[in-house]
Amino acid sequence: MTDLSDFLFGSDRSRLNDIAEGLLALQKGRCFYCAGAVRDGGDVDHFIPWALYKVDLGHNFVLAHSSCNQDKRDMLAATGHLERWVERNDSESVTLGQVFKAARFPFDADASLSVAEWAYENAERARALVWIRCRAQTARLTAEWRECFK
Ligand SMILES: [Zn+2]
Repeated sequence: MTDLSDFLFGSDRSRLNDIAEGLLALQKGRCFYCAGAVRDGGDVDHFIPWALYKVDLGHNFVLAHSSCNQDKRDMLAATGHLERWVERNDSESVTLGQVFKAARFPFDADASLSVAEWAYENAERARALVWIRCRAQTARLTAEWRECFK
């Protein structure tokens, strides 16, 4: 008998591969976080960590080195990354929409933006550390992130 969870996992996995390929092309083969060349296909990373928000929406995905993805873990990315993410979702909205549609993946740019604003607001209130780059380089989140939403 087919195990339903295996089946879903398999189908989600192939859709995620489609998204990885689309994002890698959009990012010109480079890691979203460190801009280094991605040579092994990389990882699809939840920009707003899955631990904070458990709904998969396309715009929340970026392509990153496995090492960057694993180092970032459940942290929010620093303001410089947030600025590039907001900018990317705006300037590449047509291409991103095509990638998500082709992969039959739900997406809603405004919802993703609202989720990000909510997550960064909470993090600022909690005086949380945000992730800058590998080897767990972090900093306290300052109110500067708010500039990204103006
Ligand atoms: Zn990287």
